[in-house]
Amino acid sequence: MKKPIKPVFVVVSALLLISFCSCSLKITSGADNRETSSEASYSTEAPVSGASSGITPTGTSEQGSETAVPSSAPDLSSPVSEPSTTDLSSYGPNVIGFTSKGYKIVNEDGLTYINGVLVVNKTYSVPSSYGPGDLTDECREAFNTLVSAAAEDGLNIFVVSGYRSYSTQEGLYQRYCSRDGQERADTYSARPGHSEHQTGLAIDVNSVSYSFADTAEGQWIAANSYKYGFIVRYGRDKESVTGYAYEPWHIRYVGVAMAQAIYDSGLSLEEYLGISSIYA
Ligand SMILES: [Zn+2]
Repeated sequence: MKKPIKPVFVVVSALLLISFCSCSLKITSGADNRETSSEASYSTEAPVSGASSGITPTGTSEQGSETAVPSSAPDLSSPVSEPSTTDLSSYGPNVIGFTSKGYKIVNEDGLTYINGVLVVNKTYSVPSSYGPGDLTDECREAFNTLVSAAAEDGLNIFVVSGYRSYSTQEGLYQRYCSRDGQERADTYSARPGHSEHQTGLAIDVNSVSYSFADTAEGQWIAANSYKYGFIVRYGRDKESVTGYAYEPWHIRYVGVAMAQAIYDSGLSLEEYLGISSIYA
């Protein structure tokens, strides 16, 4: 349909877009286009991977930007833009883009999965209606195993906060905003829909306090939780990539293999997957 696109031009221009336009891209998306808006933010990360992961030079990365400028496109253009949409779906069901590390970004019913991990951060949200109502069975089982292992070392690990619904998080966040102002609250409290606790896969253990890091339990969690499938989600000095201040008490279940890989890498989840954590 379109003029032939030179792959090099696409990559370069897309890279420029990443540098300067990721925020405005999202802003141009209307509220009625929430999913597409998400797509845009994912897809702006695609070009780098496109260059390195063998994405065909049909403008995959660029089309993310195109879908980000959505509603103004008249219906007439649908037949024209459809082929590029199917380009992405040819990578698999519900694939909506690629991360900068080349992982597929899959959106299923408003949930974002990257490399098999349900991702929730400032960039990626979950629907307000979503929630298992408690820790997932898998997460709870893994946590129980962790607790037993810690107990064998004479340590007591326990849940302070596990599953939190959208509305619970909404109340918490509003309270923190009233107390500290939104800018400050955003450094330590997730906006509703952006909390990992809503997935039933995250647990705050023992003490929601920085001093927890220096306790025997805190040190044990930092050194051993990966063996049971958990990562310390918001690491020290990772605020610029995770979007949150250090939280030695917040662990996130990702499965043993993934936790091991992330632990070994020394990276945050965002760095490991090649994604951002920034509010639109
Ligand atoms: Zn937490």
